[in-house]
Amino acid sequence: MTIFEKIAAREIPAKIVHETDEFFAFHDVNPQAPTHVLIVPKRVIPRIAEASAADSELLGRMLVASREIAQKLGVAESGYRLVINNGPDAGESVPHLHMHLLGGRHLAWPPG
Ligand code: 5GP
Repeated sequence: MTIFEKIAAREIPAKIVHETDEFFAFHDVNPQAPTHVLIVPKRVIPRIAEASAADSELLGRMLVASREIAQKLGVAESGYRLVINNGPDAGESVPHLHMHLLGGRHLAWPPG
């Protein structure tokens, strides 16, 4: 099982802020901004480059749900960034697709 499957199964604790039968969101253990949550499908897709057309609706629902999660966390008005790291150069460290939602401070652009 991946770390995130273990969180979904409640084998590893995490502060879960949103959950559906398909995906869930929880606070990152090493936050890079005052608000930093991960939105993760329960079905393992290793990374976005391995997503298929069959995953399109799930991924779309995750994107749409990010608005509700941002509202819940109080960053909808101030702004937030959604990030998916794919592969070594991007810093991907957990091979279970996840979308970072970062906010609560000004985020520099371009990213480092
Ligand atoms: P990546 O670098 O793959 O894009 O992001 C992985 C993220 O997962 C990192 O921000 C890291 O802090 C977070 N992470 C790794 N292990 C755990 C964990 O056990 N619990 C939580 N809540 N976050 C984790």
